[in-house]
Amino acid sequence: LSTNSYIPVDEHLIKPNREPNPKFVKENATLLMLCRNWELEEVLQSMRSLEDRFNGRYQYTWTFLNDVPFEKQFIQETTLMASGKTQYALISSTDWNRPSFINETRFEQNLIQSEKDDIIYGGSPSYRNMCRFNSGFFYKQKILDQYDYYFRVEPGVEYFCDLEEDPFRYMRLHDKKYGFVISLYEYENTIPTLWQTVEKFIENHPEYIHPNNSYEFLTDKEVVGPLGLVALTEQTYNLCHFWSNFEIGDLNFFRSEKYEAFFQFLDQAGGFYYERWGDAPVHSIAVGILLDKRQIHHFENIGYYHLPFSTCPQSYWSYKCNRCICKRNESIDLVPHSCLSKWWKYGGKTFLQ
Ligand code: GDP
Ligand code: MN
Repeated sequence: LSTNSYIPVDEHLIKPNREPNPKFVKENATLLMLCRNWELEEVLQSMRSLEDRFNGRYQYTWTFLNDVPFEKQFIQETTLMASGKTQYALISSTDWNRPSFINETRFEQNLIQSEKDDIIYGGSPSYRNMCRFNSGFFYKQKILDQYDYYFRVEPGVEYFCDLEEDPFRYMRLHDKKYGFVISLYEYENTIPTLWQTVEKFIENHPEYIHPNNSYEFLTDKEVVGPLGLVALTEQTYNLCHFWSNFEIGDLNFFRSEKYEAFFQFLDQAGGFYYERWGDAPVHSIAVGILLDKRQIHHFENIGYYHLPFSTCPQSYWSYKCNRCICKRNESIDLVPHSCLSKWWKYGGKTFLQ
C-alpha cells in the first residue's frame, strides 16, 4: 500500500497546486480504477477526460488498485494528471487468485473449451480473477474503508459531457445505491448456470429479496425466434445487465450482509472459474433483486464511451447545456441490443427528481 505522500513525484516535475472550488461540497467518495501498469496511456486518457468534465471542480481522490505493485512511472504520471490526490493499493493474492476450493482440472478444462468456443476472454485466467475480484473483493480493500461511494473508471474511456451536478451528491440526496449509463444483453455462453444459481439463492434466502425489486426488468418469458415468431418459455433471465465498466455505487450496499451472502453463494457455485461469469451480470442481478428498483439510477445526461459502445444524451437541452461532444444518433440506447427501453418500461425510473 502506498500513497503519493510516500512516493513523491520527482522534484523537477512540479505539480501545480490547484485548490478545489470551495462552492462545491465534497461527498465521502473516491474515483476507483483497477488497472495494470502497461495500461498507463489509456489510464491517463480516462483521467484527463473525467478531470476535465467533472473532477477538476471537486478534486475527489483517485484510488488505484492492482494485483502487482504499481511502477514508479505509473504513480508519477497519474499523480500529475489528477487535480487532487491519488492513492495506490496492492491487492492481496488471497483476494485475487483462485480459491483452493476450485477444482483445478475442471477449471483448466473450461479454459481450453472456452478458448475453442470463442468465448470472449474465455481463455484468460486473469480475466476470471478480475471478474471475481470486481464481484466480491473490491469493496473489501482497506483503502476504501473510509468511503461511502465509488465511481468506477476503466482505462481508455471517455466522458462526453460536463457532469454539471456531482453524481455522488445526487446518489446521497436521492438514496440511490447504484448508478449506470449503459445497459446491454450479456453473452449467454459466459453464464450458462448463473441464473439457476441465482434462483437457488432466491429460494434459500427470501428474506434478502426486496419486495420492490427489478425482477421484471431482468426476466422475460418471451423469446423471439426466426421469422419473428414469439415463443413463450418459463420466466427466465433475459441477459440484461448494467455495463459495469461505468458504475457509481454505494459501498455500504456491497458491504451489506445480503450482498455478501449473494456473492458467497455464487462464489461457492464456482462459476467464476468453471464458467466465465462477468462482474456486470453479477452486480446487475444483485442490485436487481436486493434493492428497491428506485435505488438504481440511470444517469441519462452522462455521455460515455468504452469500446465498442457509446451513449449520448438524447435530450437536446441536456446535450447543449452540458457541452456534450458526441453523436446522438450513434448512441447504443437506440439499438435493439440495448436494454434501456426495458429499463424505462420496468425499471426504477421515477419522476420525483
Ligand atoms: P473489458 O472492459 O471487459 O474489455 O476488460 P478490461 O481489459 O477493460 O478489464 C476490466 C478492468 O479490469 C479494467 O479496468 C482493467 O484495467 C482491469 N483488469 C483486467 N485484468 C486485469 C489484471 O489482470 N490485473 C489488473 N490489475 N487489472 C486488470
Ligand atoms: Mn474495459
